[in-house]
Amino acid sequence: MSLTLTGAAGFATWDDLERAARSCVACGLAEGRTQVVFGVGRRDPVLMLVGEGPGAEEDRRGEPFVGRAGGLLTALLADIGLRRDDTYIANVVKCRPPNNRDPAPDEIAACRPYLDAQIRFCAPRVIVTLGNVATRALLGTREGITKLRGRSFPLPGAGEVTVIPTLHPAAVLRTGGVALAQVRADFVRVKRALAGVPAAGSVRPAGAPGPEGRV
Ligand code: URA
Repeated sequence: MSLTLTGAAGFATWDDLERAARSCVACGLAEGRTQVVFGVGRRDPVLMLVGEGPGAEEDRRGEPFVGRAGGLLTALLADIGLRRDDTYIANVVKCRPPNNRDPAPDEIAACRPYLDAQIRFCAPRVIVTLGNVATRALLGTREGITKLRGRSFPLPGAGEVTVIPTLHPAAVLRTGGVALAQVRADFVRVKRALAGVPAAGSVRPAGAPGPEGRV
């Protein structure tokens, strides 16, 4: 799956995009939300972070990654000398899935134009995908995060953007130990990528399209 120009074609400006997302009723998740959790941060970041979808705390406060997983994410950023405000943080789906279940394929598809447009407007150099849902959505692969992490990939449809998949902070909080060491190592990889150090082992995931074109 390559990034389409749906977002760019549909939204002339960031304000158009945000207005559309905040009033979206394109899938069933709209019924259960307190509010749309659109995203937060700089609109010209070098680094974008993409999670799965809002949890209970995010749904209540209207901002991604403000719960416990968000605390770990903020700490991981601090470890590489970044603040949340230096980045843009978004989710694959902007409304909370009930009981924190994984978003369904039709929900991911309905929300995709918003994510694509956020990426296009932000034009980051590096995107960190947090967990299976974000990684599979952006790389267009069915492979799991444990196989994909530890490497970097060109973003399908926009090969100049580097995708660095890592474990979801909520999963790291559950398992700790090795997972924490792995996610820390991935954030060092992010720091090196932002510094322009070529990543060893940059590859394209099986079945994903090449880096032709731009988002
Ligand atoms: N998990 C996510 O994937 N996103 C959030 O915003 C919070 C928790």
